[in-house]
Amino acid sequence: MEQNKKIIIIGGGPAGMMAAIRAGQLHQQVVLLEKNAGLGRKLLLSGKGRCNLTNACSLDEFLGHFSKNGQFLRDAFKKFFNQDLMNFFEERGLPVKVERQMRVFPVSDRSASILDVLEKELIKNNVEIIFKAKIKSLSAVDNKVKGLYLADGQFLPADKIILATGGVSFSLTGSTGDGFEFSRKLGHTVTAFSPGLVPLKTADKFVKNLEGLTLKNVLIRFCDGKREIVSDVGELLFTFFGISGPLVLALSGKVVNWLKENKKVHVEIDLKPGLSEEQLNNRLLREFSSNPRKNIKNVLKGFLPLRMVDVFLEIAKINPEIRVNQISRQAREGITNHLKAFRLDIAGSLPIEEAMVTQGGVFLKEIDPRTMESRKIDGLYFAGEMIDVDADTGGFNLQAAFSTGYLAGESAALS
Ligand SMILES: Cc1cc2nc3c(=O)[nH]c(=O)nc-3n(C[C@H](O)[C@H](O)[C@H](O)COP(=O)(O)OP(=O)(O)OC[C@H]3O[C@@H](n4cnc5c(N)ncnc54)[C@H](O)[C@@H]3O)c2cc1C
Repeated sequence: MEQNKKIIIIGGGPAGMMAAIRAGQLHQQVVLLEKNAGLGRKLLLSGKGRCNLTNACSLDEFLGHFSKNGQFLRDAFKKFFNQDLMNFFEERGLPVKVERQMRVFPVSDRSASILDVLEKELIKNNVEIIFKAKIKSLSAVDNKVKGLYLADGQFLPADKIILATGGVSFSLTGSTGDGFEFSRKLGHTVTAFSPGLVPLKTADKFVKNLEGLTLKNVLIRFCDGKREIVSDVGELLFTFFGISGPLVLALSGKVVNWLKENKKVHVEIDLKPGLSEEQLNNRLLREFSSNPRKNIKNVLKGFLPLRMVDVFLEIAKINPEIRVNQISRQAREGITNHLKAFRLDIAGSLPIEEAMVTQGGVFLKEIDPRTMESRKIDGLYFAGEMIDVDADTGGFNLQAAFSTGYLAGESAALS
C-alpha cells in the first residue's frame, strides 16, 4: 500500500499508541505527539504496576461492565477484542496469564513490559514520535481537518488527526483534558465529568482506626434511605478517610451519580453474607451458651477480624467486657443486625484527580462507532478515555482504549 496520508495522533497512551501502530501497519505516514518526555505514563501505573490489560470474559459480559454506553464499543470490539490483544502481545514475545475474575496480566507482572512491546512496535512501523509536544490548536476548514499549530507557531499539516489525550484523572500522568478543549473548539460537545472508580469518604470518623484493614467476601449495599442503589460481593478496604478496594471502586460510579443529586447515601456491610440473620443469631446463641463466662469481646473475635472488634462494639453500644451470659436477647439481636448491616454514612468521594477513570467525555452521538470518526469534522477521530465511556476495574478500560485506538487508526488509514 502506498504511503499516501499523513496521520497525526495526539496522545501517547494505550489508545494513541495502538492507533499509531495500526495506521503504521497500514503504511501511512504517522506522527505521534506526546506532551511528556515518555509514552504511557498512566499505563505504567495500571494494575498496581502489573497492568491488567484486558479481561477474558465474553463480549456480552464485557459490555455489561461499562457504566453506561457500553454498546457504543460493540464495533470496536468486533474489530479488535480481548483475544486479539492477548495475541498481539504473545506474538511479540510477551506471554499473558488469566487470573481470578478473568483479569489478564502479562506473565512478567510488569506494566513496563507491555509498554516495551508497544514502543518496539511503533519503531517497527516507522511511527515518528515527537515528545514534549506543545500543541496550540487544531485547524479545520469547511469542517475538514487541515492540521495543527504548535505553541511555537509551526503548522503541521495532516489529512487525519486522532485525538487520544485521555480523561482528566491522575493528571500528573499527562491527561489534563487538553483534547476536550480541542474538541470543544471544533464544535464538539463534551459531557460533564465525574469521578469513576474512586474511593469514597465516610462521615464516620472511626474508620480511621480501621485504616488498612481488608474485608474479603463481604456483601456491600449502598442505599438511599431504605432503597438499594447498588450492591455486590467482594473485597473492601478501609482507609483513613473512608472505604476503597476493588468492590467499592467498582460500585462507586453509581454512588457518585446519586450523591451529585444531593441524595443521602449510606452503605451497609454484610460481614457474614453466607449466613441468614436467623442462622447467625443461632450461631451467636450457641457460642454464648458454650462459653457463658467469656466476655463479648473475646467471643466476637471468632466472628470478626481482630482489629474490628472494638470499633464494632462501640458502634453497637455494647460494653466489651460484659460476659455473654449477661447479654439480653435484644442486645444479641442487635449484634446480629450490626453483623449483617454494619452501617457507614457516605460523605462524598475523593476528587476526580484521584479517580482511576473519568466519567464523561466527547458526546457519543457526535462520533461514528463504526470508525471513531467525528460526525462534525471530516478527518477527526477519537480514541480511548476521552470518549464518554467508562467501565469497572478488571481490564475493561484498557481494552476499550486499545480497541478504539485500533479502530481509529485503521479507519483513518483506510478511509
Ligand atoms: C492508577 C491507575 C490504575 C489503572 N489500572 C488499570 C488497569 O489495571 N486496567 C485497566 O483496564 N485500566 C486501568 N486504569 C485506567 C486506564 O489506565 C485508562 O483508562 C487508560 O490509560 C486510558 O488510555 P488513554 O490512552 O485513553 O489515555 P491515557 O493513558 O491517559 O493517555 C493519554 C496520553 O495523552 C497525552 N496527552 C494529553 N494531552 C496532550 C497534549 N495536549 N499533547 C500531547 N499529548 C497529550 C498524555 O500525556 C498521555 O500520555 C488505571 C488508571 C489509573 C489512574
